Amino acid sequence: MRFFESVAKKVFKNEGIPILEGHVAYSPEEAMSICSEMNVPVVIKAQVLTGGRGKAGGVKFADDPGESLNVADKILGMDIKGETVKHLLIEEKADIINEFFISVSIDRGARKPVIMASMEGGVEIENLAKTNPDKIIKYYPNPLIEFLPYEAREIARKMGAPSDLIAPMGDIIWKLYNVFDKYDADTAEINPLVLTPKGLIAADAKLVVENDSLFRHQDLVEMLHYKQKAFDFVQLDGDIAVIGNGAGLTLTAMDMIKLNGGAPATFLDIGGGASEQVINRALDIVLSYDPVRVVFLNVLGGITKADDVARGVVKALEQSKREVHIVIRLTGTNEEEGQRILEEAGIPYEVSMEKAARKAVDLCNQLKASK
Ligand code: GDP
Ligand code: MN
Repeated sequence: MRFFESVAKKVFKNEGIPILEGHVAYSPEEAMSICSEMNVPVVIKAQVLTGGRGKAGGVKFADDPGESLNVADKILGMDIKGETVKHLLIEEKADIINEFFISVSIDRGARKPVIMASMEGGVEIENLAKTNPDKIIKYYPNPLIEFLPYEAREIARKMGAPSDLIAPMGDIIWKLYNVFDKYDADTAEINPLVLTPKGLIAADAKLVVENDSLFRHQDLVEMLHYKQKAFDFVQLDGDIAVIGNGAGLTLTAMDMIKLNGGAPATFLDIGGGASEQVINRALDIVLSYDPVRVVFLNVLGGITKADDVARGVVKALEQSKREVHIVIRLTGTNEEEGQRILEEAGIPYEVSMEKAARKAVDLCNQLKASK
């Protein structure tokens, strides 16, 4: 199974490979708010499970939020080798001095892993393999014993890396092999690994995990589902963000807000079985939408567990850079545990949806009045 670049980069980062901090966006508006938060020139990249995005127009740059809106709008929905682009990865644009290539894969003929590396990385690597195969060096580590850091540095030397790059390049090659090994990968690849004024950075990441071993890597599979799933998210004219699990419940919550004289700012359905991460992400999305004054989170736990929701809320509030006014209605599966977690964190909640909706509107009116 191949993973999106955004997921592969998280894995690489966990193993100590330097990457640029990135954010995932599902809409041009989201891309814009991420870009304005980052406040630097960005690279906007289509998240699809094929390579060659650069050549297909799926990797573009934006210098300011306005441009990012246009660029994101162009890339989203694009067809890249038969795959429709549904989400984007947005990162600070790297100042590239040089592009290298390193990969670990299985050499089926030799029936063992092979490390390939070249000082000439980038989008032309396939052509290089055809026209100048000797510029790609190959090394077969012994899969039965530990791959040692000095072997990785030896590879960097054979590539022709300048002396000051041998240690850091070797370090990344060694870590990439460790990712490959730890995750039962078919392929772990960085193309390009870029040299910037800040040092070496993995500007792209490819991770393909052997299907038969996926049961050992459920954490990865979960990240994939979470990333793959675009939220049903609509921006509206009001100032109360409505988040619910299930479209029906979210619509009902919006009606309740209206009935009480409030105006919804968003419709965001986190779906059934939402995990802690999903809640966190959902809050991030609505909080990056400027008009939002109050968040109304309406959760009736079924497949979605109230304690997962509570943990997601606590984490999101801890991390949020904005002051968050939130009204939570939390009931259903594991509600005792969920409510206990909220109480412990000092976050108030309601069990009745009617009451919670009224409270959200009141709170919003108070905030408006105090301005
Ligand atoms: P791929 O075409 O699907 O492999 O996508 P990549 O992520 O490898 O990007 C393709 C090319 O875009 C790279 O080889 C770089 O030349 C360029 N690129 C990607 N990210 C950046 C960046 O942050 N800064 C600059 N200047 N170029 C980038
Ligand atoms: Mn690439």
